[in-house]
Amino acid sequence: MNDAVSITRDLVRCPSVTPADAGALGVLENLLKAAGFEVHRVTFGEPGTADIHNLYARIGDSAPHISFAGHTDVVPAGDEAAWSHGAFSGEVRDGFLYGRGAVDMKGGIACSLAAVLQYLADHGGKPKGSISFLITGDEEDISVNGTIKLLQWVAARGEKLDHCVLGEPSNVEVLGDCIKVGRRGSQSGTLVVDGVQGHVAYPHRAANPVPDISRLIVALSEEPLDHGSAQFQASNLEFTSVDVGNTASNVIPAQARAKFNIRFNDNHNHETLRALVDERLAKACGNRIRARIDWQPSNSNVFVTKPGAFTDLAVSAIEEVTGRKPELSTSGGTSDARFISSYCPVIEFGLVGQTMHQVDERTPVSDLEKLTKIYRGVLDRYFA
Ligand SMILES: [Zn+2]
Repeated sequence: MNDAVSITRDLVRCPSVTPADAGALGVLENLLKAAGFEVHRVTFGEPGTADIHNLYARIGDSAPHISFAGHTDVVPAGDEAAWSHGAFSGEVRDGFLYGRGAVDMKGGIACSLAAVLQYLADHGGKPKGSISFLITGDEEDISVNGTIKLLQWVAARGEKLDHCVLGEPSNVEVLGDCIKVGRRGSQSGTLVVDGVQGHVAYPHRAANPVPDISRLIVALSEEPLDHGSAQFQASNLEFTSVDVGNTASNVIPAQARAKFNIRFNDNHNHETLRALVDERLAKACGNRIRARIDWQPSNSNVFVTKPGAFTDLAVSAIEEVTGRKPELSTSGGTSDARFISSYCPVIEFGLVGQTMHQVDERTPVSDLEKLTKIYRGVLDRYFA
């Protein structure tokens, strides 16, 4: 069956906990091939990581090219006995479809596929440009053998994406309340303060890094990094742990460390942000305190898709089906959209996120039907 509920159920029945595929991509491959798509199954790996299965499928060879992106991998079920209905059952009860991945994001993929199949059936089997699916099995874990490599692979074939819809559960309370048009960047680091170890009875012969790291934490936390931008809230530096590793009560420790993470907006990139924080640290240290920041590598840069024709057509399709005008939001954590945004404008719109990653993850069947109509509305407007 080609409707969104059947496809979601078939996908949920594959226990594709990262890095396992468990047949999930095969469900999509069969439907896509039957509809005339050219389907590629691509496996990526690198030393120290599990091999990951990915899928790229395209129909049509001209522009404009719209791509539906997503991931078929899911987080573990947790305590399976705690689920009201089997975690990988895809069971429909009282108007809800249950199962891990129902909203994050097998349901979203199923709706986009059902909408595309309908659209093709109504247009002699061919789009007026190109439609593709960019599906990975590596989003919920380390995300190194998925979307980032699949995009490089597609580009190496000489193919260009013009626009992308990522079907992550973007809505907060109710279908139609939120489109994600950007995400903040993420940068982690460790503040390291060096002192001189010694006996607590002879502090003049030691240098205690504990009061110093406290001063530096206050200094770095208090001064705002910016005051927000047109589409983003203010950037935020948050300390998450302070560690001295000292088990003795009569020893002044030699070193203190504090971990932090920064969520940053489009006033910064990784380089300018690190420079800014390094400079503030140097100022707070003066000539007395010896401290540095060890910056962690990060592939989570900030991005934003500016409001325009593409966001407008999505808003209009959502309004038509739900009667709601969605907020264009840049809040929340990171997603694979950060990789896609280097290739083409991307928006995220899918189901309602409330139950994702929880026991009894579920979606109203009516939301699956509405989301399929919304994606269909996007296609109609895109190729009009
Ligand atoms: Zn997801």
